[in-house]
Amino acid sequence: MPTPYRSTPLSPPDTLTIFNTLSHRQEPIVPLTPGVIRMYTCGPTVYRSVHIGNLRSYLFADWLRRIFLHFGWRVVHVKNITDVGHMRQEQLERGEDKVIAAALAAGKTPTEIAAHYTAEWRADEAALNILPPSIAPHATDHIPEMIALIKRLLENGHAYEVNGTIYYDVTSFPSYGRLSGNRLAHLFEGVRGDPDPFKRHPADFTLWKRAESGRLLKWSSPWGEGFPGWHIECSAMSMRYLGESFDVHTGGVDNIFPHHEDEIAQSEGATDHPFVRYWVHGQHLLADGLKMAKSTGNAYTLADLRSRGFSPLAFRYLCLLTHYRSRLNFTFAALHAAQTTLQRLQDHLRDWEADPSSTSAPDARDYWNNEFWNAVCSDLNLPAAGAVMWRMIRSPDLGTRDKRELLLEWDDLLGLQLDAVQPYTLSSLPDDVRFTITARDQARQAHDYATADDLRTALHLHSYHLRDYPDRTIALSLPPPRPQRYSRATDVSDRIAEPDQYDFSVCLLVHNYRSDVERCLSSLHQHQHRWRVQYLIVENASTDDTERWVEALPDHYPAITILRTDHRFGEAEGRNLALRQALGRICLLLDTGTEAYGDCFTPISATLADPHIGATGRWGFRTHDLRHFTDATERYVDAIAGYCFAFRRADLPRAGWLDTKYRYYRNLDLHFSFQFLAQGYELVLLPELPIRMHEHRGWEELSEEERDKRSKRNFYRFLNAWHHHEELLVDHRHPSQTPS
Ligand code: AMP
Ligand code: ZN
Repeated sequence: MPTPYRSTPLSPPDTLTIFNTLSHRQEPIVPLTPGVIRMYTCGPTVYRSVHIGNLRSYLFADWLRRIFLHFGWRVVHVKNITDVGHMRQEQLERGEDKVIAAALAAGKTPTEIAAHYTAEWRADEAALNILPPSIAPHATDHIPEMIALIKRLLENGHAYEVNGTIYYDVTSFPSYGRLSGNRLAHLFEGVRGDPDPFKRHPADFTLWKRAESGRLLKWSSPWGEGFPGWHIECSAMSMRYLGESFDVHTGGVDNIFPHHEDEIAQSEGATDHPFVRYWVHGQHLLADGLKMAKSTGNAYTLADLRSRGFSPLAFRYLCLLTHYRSRLNFTFAALHAAQTTLQRLQDHLRDWEADPSSTSAPDARDYWNNEFWNAVCSDLNLPAAGAVMWRMIRSPDLGTRDKRELLLEWDDLLGLQLDAVQPYTLSSLPDDVRFTITARDQARQAHDYATADDLRTALHLHSYHLRDYPDRTIALSLPPPRPQRYSRATDVSDRIAEPDQYDFSVCLLVHNYRSDVERCLSSLHQHQHRWRVQYLIVENASTDDTERWVEALPDHYPAITILRTDHRFGEAEGRNLALRQALGRICLLLDTGTEAYGDCFTPISATLADPHIGATGRWGFRTHDLRHFTDATERYVDAIAGYCFAFRRADLPRAGWLDTKYRYYRNLDLHFSFQFLAQGYELVLLPELPIRMHEHRGWEELSEEERDKRSKRNFYRFLNAWHHHEELLVDHRHPSQTPS
């Protein structure tokens, strides 16, 4: 039964509403100049590759632009290229310049570095089928415009100069904070780091900075040699190409403050006209639950996706499934699903092209068109539009010709390059596949269906499956089976409530350095004696031949389980993955740099027989103030070191899992130890445990700067959680052990 459609033809919506950050509500978009949209997107900083989080922001701007085009408007889209190092205003104010630093490190000039990454960014956008900007101005080509703007601000009292550096005076702009809601009164608290003594107000920001001696990128100005602040480039370039007032400005939500707030203050301060009508911000792409960022260590580039066999358009499809104002947690499993779905979509087009039929219910086409554009025009609701698309594909009321035409029409918006889908042809198949298909056709013509079916099954083994059309048969390649890999710890079932099957579960997180793993495993195995030990190996995205070697381990060790991750997990996430599969009475977390030279199992088991003791290990720490930790030698300690950390599995639900915010290992052991202390358990050191620690790879593989940054971040995480808990320390638990 066809769906009863309304009998009058339906027309698609004639307004587009979008959520405006400035007004906090959805508003119909009305161009300032009828028929023309002027839009600006904060573009890439070109001293390194953009990551797929940045690309998510450019994708939503692209979808927005495509709706404007659908309305028949001419779109002038400006996307700037930040090539003068001011990555972040704070860094700039400390005089750091990433373009220069990257150039020096690579033995290149800043211009060469910027040109390289600009080209890479353009290629990435093209691969994602993002429409190229109408204008992509470089900041370094617009220094005169920036200087002119700063002069205007000085003239009308919005800026002041101190020693060749120009600051914006935020108190001179009463509506400062309107976009972000960060009103000045609250800003004092938000400003961190060493206050700049030359600023009149801590929220004042630099428009122009005097060049320190020896600086590479600098320009002369009325205030001496210097270089521009980050925010000023976007005001100067947007107004240069789009006028003092224009329609739409986009960026990621992290741009709202201070970047866009400061752009408004600069532009409106200079011109006295409203700057931008509609501010549109996209939510972040996350990975492992955290905002994707190079500095967090969870960033992927398009090249990373390609090297794992994914097409860039699969990422585009993935982004389409989540509304632009919602966070999207990226996983390879989700990307794989997106790629498979996109392939199905392409297969439908091939099917329809091979088998066109034209009977559709009256008005069905208008109905579906209306549904689709209604979703799109209501705050760019692409997940809803995608759902409409799949309902349309399955609808019995449309002929395949109409389905194909509708889909291709909608793809002007979706941008999945569906018009480039090629029909499958026999000639593109490998010889043996082609011969098998021909043999099967002959068998079918001879009514030998048993043989025909056998041949079809044989093709499955070659990863092809067949589709029969009235006049021909085509073969489709099946997507390669996805190896069992985990995207997050919770992808494996949690066996914590199951009864013990082993005495010990040894958990090892492996990333490269197979000789370490080998040494650690064989040393434990050699001294295993009567103990029943389960080995849980997390193969954490090794980049050398370790992974292949790990695959063969079950041949050598009986009770070994290999858990493969699809990207490099953080320390806590990786250990949780192993712990979820643990079935030993005692869990023993080890670093792969350890080597046992005797039986470690017996003393650990004996120690943990005491129910008051929550965890034990070979190394540990003491502290008096939760800020300074020293290596401990006494029995009772404040923390067990993560190199060798043992506890009863049954206590895990009470103490809690490892906190996955700790991606780096440092201080994770402190935090985990305190989880046991907080439950009233003792932590006991076993200095005589026959185990030693070799070079620690997790430490060695990072630069000093990187280690410091990650360690600090983790330490503050720890301190934040526990600084009020001095009562847990040995000083309080065992005053007698503490020398007075
Ligand atoms: P940046 O180079 O940091 O200025 O970022 C360029 C653009 O990418 C800006 O619009 C940011 O808001 C956006 N962006 C940065 N990180 C992410 C992320 N994890 N997810 C989505 N957008 C992001
Ligand atoms: Zn900008």
